[in-house]
Amino acid sequence: MRKIVIAGNWKMFKTQAEALEFLQGFLGELTETPDDREVVLCAPFTALGALSRNLHGARVRIGAQNIHWETTGAYTGEISGAMLQEFAVRFVVVGHSERRQYFGDTDETVNLRLQAAQKYGFVPILCVGETKQQRDAGETEAVIIKQIEKGLVGVDQTNLVIAYEPIWAIGTGDTCEAVEANRVIGVIRQQLKNPDVTIQYGGSVKPDNVDELMAQPEIDGALVGGASLEPKSFARIVNYV
Ligand code: PEP
Repeated sequence: MRKIVIAGNWKMFKTQAEALEFLQGFLGELTETPDDREVVLCAPFTALGALSRNLHGARVRIGAQNIHWETTGAYTGEISGAMLQEFAVRFVVVGHSERRQYFGDTDETVNLRLQAAQKYGFVPILCVGETKQQRDAGETEAVIIKQIEKGLVGVDQTNLVIAYEPIWAIGTGDTCEAVEANRVIGVIRQQLKNPDVTIQYGGSVKPDNVDELMAQPEIDGALVGGASLEPKSFARIVNYV
């Protein structure tokens, strides 16, 4: 059975104090949230401790936004699996387009990060998606199939979430049409050995478009940036109808 996973990606937003303030407004909105929905907050590393200490007993899971593949070493600015294990981290975002675009992540390093996440017992959320230029050139499927093929070498598909995030839809307010997102996610599913992998859509998911997106048969959840920063807005997304 495919699981529904709704994850907020806070990117480089929220101090510890702001993360706790968010929880105060958010947790009370989850009383009616169906049990079969996994709710995840992918927070900055500095907020993981505060979240871990304050989510005890709540149904919200914690995610990190990166993981390095080495256990220790001279990798300034990176974070290891053992460091993340000190917190109640369950998910790790890997291969987000912002990491690929600004910090040099490639399909090869994404693959190493995915394997590291699984080695430490986390569920990686692999992000894939095409640029506007690639879409306009008719390359969407080829780009995504390559990201999936190279990213998933040696990766256990029973412990994995994939997020289809068209880059042109991230942070732009320009959501991919629900039917088109559903189609591309279907293409992704055809590439997998395990058809039960949860595949999310990400890219300007908002309270006013989440219901239509989640009504699509292939879409198993959402990876949400901007709209996950405000408790009421993210609660409305998690409580989609
Ligand atoms: C993201 O950061 O993964 C994302 C989808 O952002 P937004 O929802 O703001 O487009």
